[in-house]
Amino acid sequence: MAQDIAIADLLTQEGFDTLPAFQTAREVLIGKGLTNARKTNIHVAKLPRVREVLAGELYRVCSDPLCHTMAKLECGSRQIVTVSPAGCRVCGGKNSRRCLEAASRLFQQHGIFRVVIVGGTNTDHEEIARHARGKSLEFRFVDGTRAGRATQLAEAYIRWADLVVIWTNKPLKHSVSNTYTGNRNRARRVVYASRTGVAAMISQVARHIA
Ligand SMILES: [Zn+2]
Repeated sequence: MAQDIAIADLLTQEGFDTLPAFQTAREVLIGKGLTNARKTNIHVAKLPRVREVLAGELYRVCSDPLCHTMAKLECGSRQIVTVSPAGCRVCGGKNSRRCLEAASRLFQQHGIFRVVIVGGTNTDHEEIARHARGKSLEFRFVDGTRAGRATQLAEAYIRWADLVVIWTNKPLKHSVSNTYTGNRNRARRVVYASRTGVAAMISQVARHIA
């Protein structure tokens, strides 16, 4: 018995944490012969196969409308099941992650893969970088309070970027932002954002691009 785990616990841990999602996931496992309708436990040796089958058959998403829209675009042949925000594959319960996912798809449609953010706090930058990890959208960040190497850096960043976001809501020196907006070095595409917080800022930028 020590090698067994309760199916209910397993499916909750895997993010199928609402009753309908749990029932659908269980039916999938039964359909694939990994358990049957009478069993309440499953042997741990089956876990890798269970995860593989669930990932191949189902797409977990929370009830947020934007997450649902993203899920429909991403799910392919997988069936969508509604779970709590924490188990959502799109947002994981984080508003900023949801907005970045949606913006990332929109940016790709417009040929934008490399984004420079000028301004914002270190915490904002870390949050964006964390959510963007492993994605095709890349970010670089410029501290808007340090003019030191700004000009030299800007030339390289402007060459690299498909989009430059000037985030004016946080302390931002004109001597820094001017290196991105001045005529001589002007970036291909510049968008201004003034909203506070990553989610609001990225949504504002997305509206400019759409
Ligand atoms: Zn979600």
